[in-house]
Amino acid sequence: MSGGSGGGEAALHPDVQEVLFSEERIAARVRELGATISRDYAGAEIHLVGVLKGAVVFAADLMRRLDVPVRLDFIAVSSYGVSSRSSGAVRLLKDLDENPAGRHLLLVEDIIDTGLTLQYLVATLRARGPASLRLCAFLDKPARRKVRVDADYVGFTVPDRFIVGYGLDYAGRYRHLPYVGVLKPSVYGG
Ligand code: 5GP
Repeated sequence: MSGGSGGGEAALHPDVQEVLFSEERIAARVRELGATISRDYAGAEIHLVGVLKGAVVFAADLMRRLDVPVRLDFIAVSSYGVSSRSSGAVRLLKDLDENPAGRHLLLVEDIIDTGLTLQYLVATLRARGPASLRLCAFLDKPARRKVRVDADYVGFTVPDRFIVGYGLDYAGRYRHLPYVGVLKPSVYGG
């Protein structure tokens, strides 16, 4: 370990091939989403439900751009399958801490890929009798969709590439990158 360079742009991670969205561009988009969501929820309290672990960074930034009352909760699911690529069956790993009945739930997810995770979460949460339920996804990758998911708020639409950074991982790594990037194929044996 050595000292930092004294500020400025962080160097591109050597495993990253390309940056799709810079830290600045993400911050600007999150600010816009926060303003839109705050307008839509004027007079209400949001029960923000972040989907662990991928949505942690987005949820933390988004909630600080909301100027309506917010409560924070988390839910964790796992899809069976290879590493972090989604496969199909979804399993609940961690339930909400608070009863969502009668609350205005805003489900915050990192990325919609096949749509199976959100389909499962929407069905699970709707069954709990919330006053309302909306979806906010940081990224949308429509190319691989298997089931229809109607997100109310989307940060960016992305091409069919494997994305890391800003909460998204590959085999548990790269979540801390402040930008959204595409890994070099050599990293996952491509
Ligand atoms: P879905 O159920 O919509 O297929 O998948 C959603 C989950 O798959 C996401 O929450 C995320 O964990 C994972 N996922 C899908 N596409 C990507 C991707 O490009 N990069 C990463 N890191 N995870 C992804």
